[in-house]
Amino acid sequence: MSTLADAVTELETLYDPAWAESWDAVGLVCGDPAQPVRKILFAVDPVAAVADEALAWGADLIVTHHPLYLRGTTTVAATTFKGRLVHRLIKNDVALYTAHTNADVADPGVSDALARAVGLTGPLVPLSPAADDPRRGLGRVGSLPEPTPLRDFVRRAARGLPRTAGGLRVAGDLGREVLRVAVSGGAGDSLLGTARAAGVDVFLTADLRHHPASEFAEASSSGGGPALVDAAHWATEWPWLADAARRLTSGLAARGINVEARVSETVTDAWTTTAESMTPA
Ligand SMILES: [Zn+2]
Repeated sequence: MSTLADAVTELETLYDPAWAESWDAVGLVCGDPAQPVRKILFAVDPVAAVADEALAWGADLIVTHHPLYLRGTTTVAATTFKGRLVHRLIKNDVALYTAHTNADVADPGVSDALARAVGLTGPLVPLSPAADDPRRGLGRVGSLPEPTPLRDFVRRAARGLPRTAGGLRVAGDLGREVLRVAVSGGAGDSLLGTARAAGVDVFLTADLRHHPASEFAEASSSGGGPALVDAAHWATEWPWLADAARRLTSGLAARGINVEARVSETVTDAWTTTAESMTPA
């Protein structure tokens, strides 16, 4: 019988908690290491809709990218939405596990899956290599199969990522040719300078704010530099789930442990609609 301890051991082989940033909160959130685990649901966010999906399917474990309690807590009372989630999971024998920045910097990690989803082929290297091991790190840099107008790369990226209300936003000349591409799953503001220094033609990430994006685009149009593509945060991290699910199940299978894994299809991006997409009143 497979246990939560088996799944956690394998997850921590793939995504070593020691790789996580010091401010992060990764690992087991709730669950008894001795409890059986047969069905594992992978999701980006530990939210009520994902718990609904896990309970409907009969999952024993949810693996999420984002932590439930990033900044710690003094209560799990069911008086808050987070406490209610913990109660529902424990009452139904569902464990919760988080692999966050340790999955971002893993090789392969979150941005490898993102890079493949938007059409990069060939070798990928970290955009910002980890100090202790340059094979790991934040973001990835790779190439498209051939020089491509930015317009076509954006279309390819939109097809490769799951649909969200906000879709993709672009800053740059749609007709310019792009070949070298940097990507970073999740909020990539802090890597703007690194992407420029890397000499790529386009940088795709999420959660870009007006001023950094505006100044970056202005510098690129006056002095040459990357175009920007801003995607929904959830959409940039979702491609990793299938990769993690595959690696976990095959790692466990190699040890004679068979589990069933599923990737959540629930769109949990914070932004659920736009005025333009609402039906007319
Ligand atoms: Zn994220």
